[in-house]
Amino acid sequence: SMSIKTVTVCGSGVLGSQIAFQTAFHGFDVHLYDINDAAIAKARETLGKLQARYQQDLKVDAQQTGDAFARISFFTDIAEAVKGVDLVIEAIPENMDIKRKFYNQLGEVADPNTIFATNSSTLLPSQFMEETGRPEKFLALHFANEIWKFNTAEIMRTPRTDDAVFDTVVQFAKDIGMVALPMYKEQAGYILNTLLVPLLGAALELVVKGIADPQTVDKTWMIATGAPRGPFAFLDVIGLTTPYNINMASAETNPGSAAAAKYIKENYIDKGKLGTATGEGFYKY
Ligand code: NAD
Repeated sequence: SMSIKTVTVCGSGVLGSQIAFQTAFHGFDVHLYDINDAAIAKARETLGKLQARYQQDLKVDAQQTGDAFARISFFTDIAEAVKGVDLVIEAIPENMDIKRKFYNQLGEVADPNTIFATNSSTLLPSQFMEETGRPEKFLALHFANEIWKFNTAEIMRTPRTDDAVFDTVVQFAKDIGMVALPMYKEQAGYILNTLLVPLLGAALELVVKGIADPQTVDKTWMIATGAPRGPFAFLDVIGLTTPYNINMASAETNPGSAAAAKYIKENYIDKGKLGTATGEGFYKY
C-alpha cells in the first residue's frame, strides 16, 4: 500500500474541523476546504476552541496545539484545495444531492491517484461511488464526534474499493491516533450503530411500556455485561433530542416509536431535561 503524506478535509463543520485538527496534530499538512469565507472564519474559531479542548483533555501544551494549527491551510477553491494531495476526506452535509454534486466536481479536479474517503454517517459509499469517477479509490472513513477522545475510525469498503487503497486508509487512521476498525462489506450504521440503535431502542421500550425504571435497566446491563454505563446514561450523553427525532421519523407507521417519542417529549424535552448538556436527563449531573 501507499503512504499518505498530505490530506485535504472538505467541509469544516463539526466533524471536518475535528478531523483536520486531529490529522494536523499528528504531524500531517492539512488543507481545509469549505464553500465560502464565512465558513472558513467559523472554522478558524472552532479550531481555536479545539486547541483548548486538546490541551485540557490530552494534557498537551499550547505550543503543541499551536504547531498543529499552523499545519492547517484554508481554501475556498476546490481545485487548489486538492492539488497534489494523497487523500481527500469529505465531511460535507449529510445530503445525497450535495454529496453527488460535490463528488462529480471533486473527481474532475483531483489528481488521478488521490484517494477519496467519506465520513458520511447514514449514506453508503456505493450510493455515490460512480460520481467520484474512481470507485476503486473510494471508501468510507467514519469518525465519532469528539474524535480526540472517542477515537474510533470505522473503515468501510465498497465492492469496488482496491485492497491497497483499503490498507492505506487503515494505516492512515492509525497514523492519526485512531483505533482502526476495518469493515469488509457495506453496512448501514457501520458497526457501532448496528449494535447501539437496537440496544437503545429496546431499553426505551422497557421503560415506555412501564416494565422497569431507567436506573434498573442500566443496572441490569452494567452488572451483567461489565459495561461502565447503561443505555440510559448513554442516551443522556447523546442528548435526548436525537432519540426523539429518530422515533418521530417512524412514528406514523410504528406505534412503539410514537409511544417512545411521546414519552421522551412529555417527561424530558418539555421539562428542559435534554441530557448531560443541560445537567439533567434520565440522571442528574
Ligand atoms: P456540519 O453541518 O457541521 O458541517 C458541514 C460543513 O460542510 C459546513 O461547514 C458547510 O459549510 C460545508 N459545506 C456545505 N456544502 C458544502 C459543499 N458543497 N462542499 C464543501 N463543504 C460544504 O456537518 P457535520 O456534523 O460536520 O457532518 C458532516 C458529515 O460528517 C456528514 O456526512 C455527517 O453524517 C458526518 N458525521 C457527523 C457526525 C456528528 O456527530 N456531527 C459524526 C460522524 C459523521
